[in-house]
Amino acid sequence: MEEVCPICNGLSSYMVRCPHCQEAMMARGPIQDYFDDYSPYLDQGITQQVDGVPAHQCLHIFYCEKCGADRRVPINTILM
Ligand SMILES: [Zn+2]
Ligand SMILES: [Zn+2]
Repeated sequence: MEEVCPICNGLSSYMVRCPHCQEAMMARGPIQDYFDDYSPYLDQGITQQVDGVPAHQCLHIFYCEKCGADRRVPINTILM
C-alpha cells in the first residue's frame, strides 16, 4: 500500500471554482513542479515537508483561464 495523489496519477479530476468569476479552474499539477530546485523525482516526503503540507496531501495549483487567478488546493492522497 502506498499513498498516491489521485490527480498526479490521473485517477480522478478535481473541480474547483474560481473564487472571482466562478469559472471552472484548470489543474496545473503539483506545486513542487513550480520550483526549479525541486526534482520531480525527489522523495515526496521531503518535498511535502518543505512545502509545509501534511504528508497525506498533495498541494496543487489550479488556474482560472478566464481571469488569470490561481489557487492552491491541497488534495487528499489515497491508498493504493
Ligand atoms: Zn498531486
Ligand atoms: Zn476567474
